[in-house]
Amino acid sequence: MIRKFIIKLIRVIARVPIGSHRVCAICNKRLGKFLPFRGGSYWTPKLMHVLECVGSDVDNFSCPWCKSHDRERHLYLYMRESGILHNLEGKRVLHFAPELQLANIIQKANPAAYIQCDLHPASSNITFADITCMPFPDESFDLLIANHVLEHVSNADKALSEIVRVLRAGGNAILQTPFSKVLTKTWEDPGINTEIQRFYTFGQEDHVRLFGIDIFETFTKHGLKSLVRSHDDLLSKFSSKIYGVNSHEPFFLFVKL
Ligand SMILES: [Zn+2]
Repeated sequence: MIRKFIIKLIRVIARVPIGSHRVCAICNKRLGKFLPFRGGSYWTPKLMHVLECVGSDVDNFSCPWCKSHDRERHLYLYMRESGILHNLEGKRVLHFAPELQLANIIQKANPAAYIQCDLHPASSNITFADITCMPFPDESFDLLIANHVLEHVSNADKALSEIVRVLRAGGNAILQTPFSKVLTKTWEDPGINTEIQRFYTFGQEDHVRLFGIDIFETFTKHGLKSLVRSHDDLLSKFSSKIYGVNSHEPFFLFVKL
């Protein structure tokens, strides 16, 4: 009870934009501070810093107004500024582990079909689907979104084959995931299988790998072509500090050949 009250109070205080230019790209509200994830980067395993891991901005995570998280805000900006969002009308979209605010925005863009799915659906509008064995026909989607999903999947190759299978030729896949700028090879090991081991090696209890810079090779060998763009390339006018996003996180956009 007291804990809930304190969390609510912190959220209300964080909304006050005095001396701050921060703004949430999704709800458009000004605010004083984005709230950290689990206390922020001080509590992130030191190995993630050493390996120059690019993922969530845990110090500027949650919007105190709409609760969107940094990866959701960043993906929204990437989709908007690349033109993908404004070109969704009549398209068929498959969205894994859908983020609430982003899902509402996509719905309003009038796609011909919009299927939200998850391995553990949390509500009735979300379909059960295993990304490594999808219950959808071949070439049935124009866009597939998996925002920070593949680091949780035990067989990434199988997931990537399935992603390619359900996309039509010329369809796009958005595959955001944490990765290390230091590792030349993706790091995974079935021996690392407890929550504590995964937390210290991959950065979170439910991550099963840490992608390295071979991520591009891994993604493209299944028949996807990289259209990856950097924050500075596509979002140079959006200050990461003001918008609470990680400017080191690229837009992992691919197209099916
Ligand atoms: Zn917001």
